[in-house]
Amino acid sequence: MRIRVDEDVCQGHTLCAMNAPALFDLRADDGHAVTLVEEVPGELDAAARLAARGCPERAVVIEE
Ligand code: SF4
Repeated sequence: MRIRVDEDVCQGHTLCAMNAPALFDLRADDGHAVTLVEEVPGELDAAARLAARGCPERAVVIEE
């Protein structure tokens, strides 16, 4: 599974970083999310899906 953040859609709500701190960080300048990994380790699959479900903007994109 791969993840990315659609930068055109992200509004910096921070929920993804709270739901999956091992997968997301927030940029210091604008608070938008960046992914810490592209390929999600298997043990973090559930966290990645939680972050995607929890993003109000649907900015977290999962590619199976
Ligand atoms: S929850 Fe969604 S909109 Fe908010 S920072 Fe994360 S990716 Fe961006």
